[in-house]
Amino acid sequence: MSYRELYSRLLPRYDKGEAQAITQWVLDSRFHLSLSDALCGKVTELSPNDRTELEKIFCRLEAGEPVQYVLGEAEFCGRRFHVERGVLVPRPETEELFRWILASQDAFPDSPEVLDVGTGSGCIAITLAAELPTASVTAWDISPEALAVARENAKRAHVLVSFEQQDMLGKDMTSDARKWHLMVSNPPYVCQKEADQMARHVLDYEPHVALFVPDDDPLLFYRAIARYATATLRPGGWLFFEINPLFLDDLTALLAGMGFAEIEARNDQFGKARFIRATIKTTT
Ligand code: GLN
Repeated sequence: MSYRELYSRLLPRYDKGEAQAITQWVLDSRFHLSLSDALCGKVTELSPNDRTELEKIFCRLEAGEPVQYVLGEAEFCGRRFHVERGVLVPRPETEELFRWILASQDAFPDSPEVLDVGTGSGCIAITLAAELPTASVTAWDISPEALAVARENAKRAHVLVSFEQQDMLGKDMTSDARKWHLMVSNPPYVCQKEADQMARHVLDYEPHVALFVPDDDPLLFYRAIARYATATLRPGGWLFFEINPLFLDDLTALLAGMGFAEIEARNDQFGKARFIRATIKTTT
């Protein structure tokens, strides 16, 4: 099967550029074929075993499964992460959040205590641990499947992250010390009523527990995490969130009402208010 015949199989679901990018990713990652190899017809020279595997991969892609789950890998800030259906595929927007945190590192002490709430594949926590080697990074998730994936990713990246299973909504806060210099979270924030505008491959394959919040309480996780932050962030510590642009004003009011200061929002590459950060000045 030629390169053109391969990517054409994806055209019912993807535009031409995406279909070609996915096909190149598969050929490169699984069969070590470059684009020029593919264009010179090397796909037709694959061994019978490789051809069977290629066929299986394309059947899954044709059915709509995200290429990251099919290949079991995704990129985040230039690093490769294992992903499977129990974790969200890391998004380019979350890379922007990460870069904002990294650009703010002068605001943290030399060896910051960092907490990532709802870590999923571990992409934020692990990349932070790799980029800030003196940081102590802790990461929570409610899902044992996600924690298993995140632990494997930390091992592969040769970084130490302390992973814990925690339900943020049921967290007992009384015993936790005021220890964090930085808290970050990309919690579930999509309302059920937004589901009909979402891509099928997200709805059909990605974990709903990582995506959705009830329509009548879209800030459920932000309230719980911010409340925890008021009790455990050190004075001058920072809280960073990825957010749903629809609730920027409500979230800003919520954080201000809880005593957070220097509340600042940022847009993502598509011009949508997607991130927010805030600090705690003093302890009350
Ligand atoms: N940005 C993701 C999406 O739209 C949602 C991530 C989240 O809920 N935290 O699919």
